[in-house]
Amino acid sequence: MNERTIPVYQPDLSGNESRYVNEAVDSSWISSQGSFLKRFEEMFGAFIGTPHVTAVSNGTVALHLAMHCLDFQPGDEVIVPSFTYIASVNTIVQAGGTPVFCEVRSSDWLMDPEDVISKITPRTRAIMPVHLYGAACDMDRLCAISKEYGLRMIEDCAEALGTSWKGQHVGTFGDVSTWSFFGNKTVTTGEGGMVATRDPALLRKMAIAKGQGQDLDRRYWHSVLGFNYRMTNLCAAIGTAQMERVDDILGRKRNIAAAYRKELANAPVQFQTLPNEVVSSEWLVSLLLPKGIDRDRVMKSMGDLGIDTRPVFYCAHHMPPHARPDLRLPVSEDIAARGISLPSYPQLTADDIERVCNALKRLI
Ligand SMILES: *Cc1c(COP(=O)(O)O)cnc(C)c1O
Repeated sequence: MNERTIPVYQPDLSGNESRYVNEAVDSSWISSQGSFLKRFEEMFGAFIGTPHVTAVSNGTVALHLAMHCLDFQPGDEVIVPSFTYIASVNTIVQAGGTPVFCEVRSSDWLMDPEDVISKITPRTRAIMPVHLYGAACDMDRLCAISKEYGLRMIEDCAEALGTSWKGQHVGTFGDVSTWSFFGNKTVTTGEGGMVATRDPALLRKMAIAKGQGQDLDRRYWHSVLGFNYRMTNLCAAIGTAQMERVDDILGRKRNIAAAYRKELANAPVQFQTLPNEVVSSEWLVSLLLPKGIDRDRVMKSMGDLGIDTRPVFYCAHHMPPHARPDLRLPVSEDIAARGISLPSYPQLTADDIERVCNALKRLI
């Protein structure tokens, strides 16, 4: 049997992507100015529900830019789940803050509001909900906490384009939100990112800082410290074509997730369980293997059958740059040890899903 390998992800670039990239090349606007940038930002802002967005070169610098513009002071603490992608944590340190790791809930694997409260100190400046795998954190509770304790909120929405809480798109609850358009994200520009806010003054500050701190109306005058975090018009051309099809991409990903849940309904695996308030983007279908099973062996055997999988994120408090050997986060540690992500790209077929599920059921 010579079946093709099913990857965990591959972007669907079958719309106007190459046409728009060629238009950008033909126009010679290939750097960080050009009409696609404006179009992409407008489409993106309209989709999530705020006009105050600006495109950047990736999701990591989006986080750094957002927190840089919140002016952390030395010793300022930012509460963040340890169970997250490493960029959420690295950028807190890079922006001058101190990450304080909180626990996630065993149901939805996301920031546990009760544990957030227990981690608040007089030095806490901000909280960073991370809407992992397309789910949404408990925004009722987290907004109430941020209000009650006077904390800024940075939403890491890299995996949550299309995700809503009570009908409101994530990324519009906190002070600022950050987005990624890496090749495996729901909408991709190759590498790319976005920051969004409801606060026009903060947007202006971020727009200046991302462009070398140059005044928006006086060229080569740099009134603040800045970076080069700009997106190119080429990336925005791809992003524009992707946004034209975002509803279609999301619809297919939701069907894929529903199919996995149905096929594996009787298997001893555990999916993220979301409250009714959440509509997930179903970025990457992930599940916990039964306790006591050797995850690496299962993933290796899946690989031998031509099915690519990946482990969920390891805990940040176990990583050398952020190691906290004293810290115990049992729920996060358990999820990090047992979770795997399954192929979840938009072109995945019903036959592919059946193949993945049959292999998984046999191996566990
Ligand atoms: C992808 C991702 C990022 C970083 O985005 P890049 O564009 O790869 O830099 C940050 N946070 C989370 C949760 C992500 O999944």
